[in-house]
Order: sequence, then C-alpha cells, then structure tokens
Amino acid sequence: ASPLQPEASVEELAFEGALRPETLAEFVGQPRVRGQLELLLKAAALQQRAPDHILLAGPPGLGKTTLAMIIGNESGRAVRMASGPAIQHAGDLAAVLSALVPGEVLFVDEIHRMAKSAEEMLYLAMEDFRIDIMVGKGAGAASVPLELSPFTLVAATTRSGMLPAPLRDRFGFTAHLEFYSAEDLTRVVTRSAGMLDIQLTSAAAAELAKRSRGTPRIANRLLRRVRDWKLVHEGSSDIEAVHGALELYDVDAYGLDRLDRSVLEAIAKSFKGGPVGLTTLAASVGEEAETIESVVEPYLVREGLLARTPRGRMLTSEGLRHTGIDGSPDQLD
Ligand code: ATP
Repeated sequence: ASPLQPEASVEELAFEGALRPETLAEFVGQPRVRGQLELLLKAAALQQRAPDHILLAGPPGLGKTTLAMIIGNESGRAVRMASGPAIQHAGDLAAVLSALVPGEVLFVDEIHRMAKSAEEMLYLAMEDFRIDIMVGKGAGAASVPLELSPFTLVAATTRSGMLPAPLRDRFGFTAHLEFYSAEDLTRVVTRSAGMLDIQLTSAAAAELAKRSRGTPRIANRLLRRVRDWKLVHEGSSDIEAVHGALELYDVDAYGLDRLDRSVLEAIAKSFKGGPVGLTTLAASVGEEAETIESVVEPYLVREGLLARTPRGRMLTSEGLRHTGIDGSPDQLD
C-alpha cells in the first residue's frame, strides 16, 4: 500500500494498536469533541446507565476507531467490533445484535456502507433495544419480535451526509472530527517517537507534522519512514531525514500527496480551473468518486485550495498557484 493512503493496511494495524491512546486524557487534539464526549460519559456514569449512541464522523485516520475504544475504556464497557461492508443483510446485523452482552459498546465502522435492510432493523434496535425477525417465507412468513440487551452503538463514517436522516437522528450525539492543527499533530509525532524510541528534534517533529495532511495515521506512518531514513543515511540530521523521506514518498511542502496534486492539476489543465462535476473529475484522475469526495477533497477544501460550489468543484486562486499552471483568473474565485 502507498505510505500516504489514509486507510490502514493489514500489517499496520498491530503498529497502530501499539500507539493508540487508551484514555481521553491521552487523546491528543480535538478539544471540542473530547469535551463533548467527557460530559456525555460522565453523565451516563453518574446515572449508572449506558451512554447514548454516538456517531463519529470525519475523514479516515483522524482517530474514530481510537475514540470508540476509548469510549469503551472510559465507561468500563467491552467493545465489540463490526463493520458496515460486512453487514450485507438484515440477518448479519441480527446475529451481531443478538450476541451482545448487556451494556456492551457495539462499534460499527463505515456504517454508511451497511445494507439498507439492516439500516431499518437498526432504527428499532437503537430506539427500543428490540428487533423484528422474519421467519419463514411466502404466506406462512411471520415477524417475531426479539428483545435485545441494552447497548451503546458507536458508529464511524467518513460520509455522514450519506446516512439517512432517520438513522442520523437516532444518535444522541455526533462528533465531527476535524483535521489536526500542526501543533496538535506535532504532539502526536512527539508522543509516537517517544513510544517507538525514535530520537527526533522538535524542529524535525514540527516539520513532519506540518506535512502530514492533518492526519495522525499519516504522521505516524511518515515517522516510520523518517526512522528508516536515519537508519540508512547515517550521520544525516533529523531535518534532512524528514526532507529526504518526504520527498522520496512524494509529499510536497504543503503535505499534499500525489493524488491531491493530480486532482488539482486535472482541474487546472483539463477543466480550466472548474467547475467540474465529481464523477467527471474522478474519472479523469482514475480514482473512485468516493475516495475523491471523502479523502482528497476535505483536506484541499480546508487548505483553501479547492471550493465545492453548486456547479461543481473549482480551484481557488491559491489552488491554481499551487499547480504552477497558468489559468484564466476570471474563472476563479
Ligand atoms: P479509519 O476510519 O480509517 O479506521 P480512524 O479515524 O478510525 O481511521 P484510527 O485508526 O483511530 O483512525 O487512528 C489511526 C492511528 O492514529 C491510531 O492508531 C493512533 O495511533 C493514531 N491517532 C489517532 N488519533 C490520535 C490522537 N488524537 N492522538 C494520538 N494518536 C492518535
């Protein structure tokens, strides 16, 4: 897998597990979400009840899985893991739900990819801790109610806009995770370097953080490549190692990766700065529309390089400047 894709590869999960903060206090950044979760968990503890259902929304690699585990830890509840794409039928969900032990946290990653039929079953389960199971076929079919143990659903999505409103409304709270500031990401890098026994000057940690797309997963991954660089190029300074490794892996001074840049360049070159529709844009860079929308665009928008308008995606003048391509500024912002 490319070192820059925000999704975790299989071999990375063990490494991530080792660096994963286990309490809210250890969780770096996201002060608003941290405060919101703290209040919600404390209130539930005081009333000795299961916390409300929680939706975690935001781009990949910002800590949704980490927060789900923390919610379990902080409330002293076991966490069961499930994933949207694996729930293809209502029956798959029924099996997961009926196996829950009272008070458990059920974490469903990528909930927007769950089957429609399961979504409908989930409404009732979240509200009344009950589901209806269809037994038999045709004229003899009957719906049998099944009582569930009370549980807390923690769901993660990169696309909260894709969830049907009735599902979204059943969460007591939606946490919107933002890209990390350079300062917070520096703390993530410093923490990880300490845990992995990697020596890094604070200037090098800050430079690495600045170029990690506001994403802890990417920062941790690049940190390992910097460690490799230092190992191979004996005697190189930390800042040389950061520059060397990042250049090798195609991260530019903004922290943009190759896909980010090819999106900017496609809009500049092929679509004269835009506006261009998502599907057309995705086809022109050979990527899936979902990846462009939930991984690439949020960061380009937050950096002020791209604008989403009702007519389509457009480069800002800053975005155009970044490509180094001349365009007609009258079409731009
Ligand atoms: P995905 O949606 O792709 O599963 P995610 O949002 O669930 O991504 P995590 O797996 O929780 O992301 O986080 C990726 C890694 O980044 C974690 O292993 C953890 O080491 C690190 N990380 C995430 N958030 C933080 C944080 N706030 N402080 C320190 N480390 C963090």
